[in-house]
Amino acid sequence: MADNRKVGVLGGGQLGRMLIEAANRLNIQVNVLDAANSPAKQISAHDGHIEGSFKDAAKVKELAQKCDVVTVEIEHVDTQMLEEVAGQVVVEPSWKTLRVIKDKYAQKQHLKEHGVDVAESIDLEGKGADGLKEVGVKYGYPYMLKSKTEAYDGKGNFVVKSEGDIDAAIKALGGRPLYAEKWADFSMELAVMVVKTKDGVLSFPTVETVHEDSICKLTYTPPRNVSSSISQRAQDLAKKAIAAFEGKGVFGVEMFLLKDDSLLINEIAPRPHNSGHYTIEACPISQYDAHLRAILDIPIQPYMLRLKEPAIMLNILGAATPDSDKKVAQYAIENSDASVHMYGKGDSRPGRKMGHLTITRPTLREAEQAIQPLVDFVDEQKG
Ligand code: ATP
Ligand code: MG
Ligand code: MG
Repeated sequence: MADNRKVGVLGGGQLGRMLIEAANRLNIQVNVLDAANSPAKQISAHDGHIEGSFKDAAKVKELAQKCDVVTVEIEHVDTQMLEEVAGQVVVEPSWKTLRVIKDKYAQKQHLKEHGVDVAESIDLEGKGADGLKEVGVKYGYPYMLKSKTEAYDGKGNFVVKSEGDIDAAIKALGGRPLYAEKWADFSMELAVMVVKTKDGVLSFPTVETVHEDSICKLTYTPPRNVSSSISQRAQDLAKKAIAAFEGKGVFGVEMFLLKDDSLLINEIAPRPHNSGHYTIEACPISQYDAHLRAILDIPIQPYMLRLKEPAIMLNILGAATPDSDKKVAQYAIENSDASVHMYGKGDSRPGRKMGHLTITRPTLREAEQAIQPLVDFVDEQKG
């Protein structure tokens, strides 16, 4: 490809690694800022990478000097420095978008201001136990206490079931900037990967996500027993939400489907997302291909984002023993036609995302049957 532009990525975890898999096929160089031997760097041999933290301003500046476009695989980044370098290098999505989204409360306020339905929330910064009691009076119990920043895989959330939980909640999350969210009594969680290009907002199909202990375990595309009109509404809501932000790239939009069939946005990720892994096998171009295209202004047409075949994705998480993830991968490779993705993360610990696998079939039912033994095997690893 006659494209000599270099892409810089803040963060070299599994999302960066899969972005590089997509870039490698187009012969596009991606320079990663993260620790040496991070998952993304392992599959990319050139001297353009930078060793250090994506939170280190000086390193972000160094990366910007070596690239034409800078993007992220994680939102917990230094947006101050990104604002500074935005004069010299293209930053996608915009540092303004990253700054709003990295604060989950600011993100919700922003969406609300743009007429997007989100879970109701109350700011608790500087409020202490009395503030938490007032939330109980206003929302009732349970409600969700959340850290505004640095949250992932539920680390940053605490379910407050009664007034008696308030001390424990403060102990668990005290010291972090907090807000509270009204409990969403959902029947299902849905997600949509949205692609924002220079020309507009497109979306991949609607996905059902299943979480266990606040960590994504499975995704089903299409969602099980959800009408096409609900799936369409989910795509429309996700696109409306992302239209409210500046910049280009893919965005993961997590939603709650409530019992009355209404939809609320849970949160947005300004980057490729776990709920979009299935696109690697199930769509003509993946969320990673789409992200690269969007930030480099390579055209994308809606038909490229269609579902070729129903797909189920199963995460391979660290479990009871340090080799549980390797056992799951080996079992899947030897006993199924699943596409297995291992991230090269080294040390496994319970709940850590070590890899994932995807099965596609002509019908979702067949995919469910094919994946069941693998789900059972994963469940056996929990110990
Ligand atoms: P991620 O890894 O997706 O970034 P996170 O740590 O930012 O996760 P959330 O997405 O806020 O956490 O919440 C994790 C899960 O907790 C949700 O997917 C959902 O299952 C549950 N949850 C979150 N907020 C609420 C709520 N208001 N009511 C009920 N359940 C909730
Ligand atoms: Mg989150
Ligand atoms: Mg989430």
